[in-house]
Amino acid sequence: MEDLKARVAYLRGLAEGMKLESSSPNGKLLHEVITVLDQVADAISELNDTADDIDEYLEKLDDDLRELEEEVYGEEGVIEVTCPHCGETVCVDEDLDEDENLELRCPNCGELIYENDSYDADEDADTIDNKREDTEGNGDD
Ligand SMILES: [Zn+2]
Repeated sequence: MEDLKARVAYLRGLAEGMKLESSSPNGKLLHEVITVLDQVADAISELNDTADDIDEYLEKLDDDLRELEEEVYGEEGVIEVTCPHCGETVCVDEDLDEDENLELRCPNCGELIYENDSYDADEDADTIDNKREDTEGNGDD
């Protein structure tokens, strides 16, 4: 990138040496072209800096994800899930994921931990909402 900037500066030097700049329509055109080249070189340089930042960020993200994967998929073929209800760590066979209508309950507290995506989402939401209404009750009368 510095190379491109240096070459644009060299062109500007050449043009100045030939006393072309601003002295004729051709010189004006050349001056504009060199100015645009300079701006392009600056823009590319900025883009490179941004790309470097993103690259660095992605590397960190990748490291974090790897750590997270190691924590979640501690053992190969087994997924460790923490029950959101009682905090118990439950080991789940990875292959269970492919079962249809999978419903995973915590062996410790019996609460629902996970449902397969192939479940009918709308139906499920209704069921959960209804349960919630039932348990909440209402204060009137
Ligand atoms: Zn539990």
